[in-house]
Amino acid sequence: MSGLEEAQAEYKSWEENYEPKDFIEYTHEAYEKLKEHDPKYVWTNHGTCENEQLTNGCQEYNSVCGCWDNHGWWVCKNPWEGEPMTMYVSTEYRGECPVCNSGANDENIKPDCEECEGSGYIQVYLD
Ligand SMILES: [Zn+2]
Ligand SMILES: [Zn+2]
Repeated sequence: MSGLEEAQAEYKSWEENYEPKDFIEYTHEAYEKLKEHDPKYVWTNHGTCENEQLTNGCQEYNSVCGCWDNHGWWVCKNPWEGEPMTMYVSTEYRGECPVCNSGANDENIKPDCEECEGSGYIQVYLD
């Protein structure tokens, strides 16, 4: 499996396990309201220093370094178990191009690759 396929499979199994139903766009007011909801049904959609991801629980990240912005929250049909902020799933893949750079072997990068436009790397949203 390529890195992209792994990331897609991971996202898909998150969807199947938790069955997201409502997406709530980030505002501080929305956060105050959502805090009343059982956090076990909530996943926070946010940036990190590397890519975008979902973290279990209802969090408001205060963008310490400028990357950890809240985008919103998914309210799901099925609850997660355990402690908040212990499970993560990427909503974005950034990595080697599965067409010409599988395994990050730079020698095979094709300058005319249609998938990555010759960079050898791609960025894809999974959600
Ligand atoms: Zn950062
Ligand atoms: Zn490529």
